Amino acid sequence: MIIININQSFNTMSGTFVETRKCKQCNNSLHGRADQLFCDANCRSAYHFQNNNHEEMMIRSLTSYVRNNRRILKTLCYKGKTIVRKSVLDSMGFRFENFSGIYVTKNGAVYYLCFNYAFTPKYEKGIKKVLIVNKQEFMKDFDPWSFV
Ligand SMILES: [Zn+2]
Repeated sequence: MIIININQSFNTMSGTFVETRKCKQCNNSLHGRADQLFCDANCRSAYHFQNNNHEEMMIRSLTSYVRNNRRILKTLCYKGKTIVRKSVLDSMGFRFENFSGIYVTKNGAVYYLCFNYAFTPKYEKGIKKVLIVNKQEFMKDFDPWSFV
């Protein structure tokens, strides 16, 4: 097996590998300065547009996960406070790793905020459950350094 570096190509005339640099956008060979990354300004701006767009899409999808979590919490917590099994949230598509904020009580209970709703994990007789509450005014006070 021959492993060819992506920046090299085989020159059949000389029988050697030669360094070829490719435009990061269109993959055409580059012939300019050694630090050249794109053939021209069009390829540079197209590349940066796509990369920024990718970042924007990542932010949008994370935001939509938190929005969806909030909708699920709201659906389940219509009385302002409730305890449900984790499996119920799982079945509704809840994503526990996505939330908009965090609050830790003096006793060390961690509340994860999804905008104006909050949940905290708990065990009842070995069963994973979730306490859901409306976000409380004091839940905005969070100091990460108090845990360092
Ligand atoms: Zn190009």
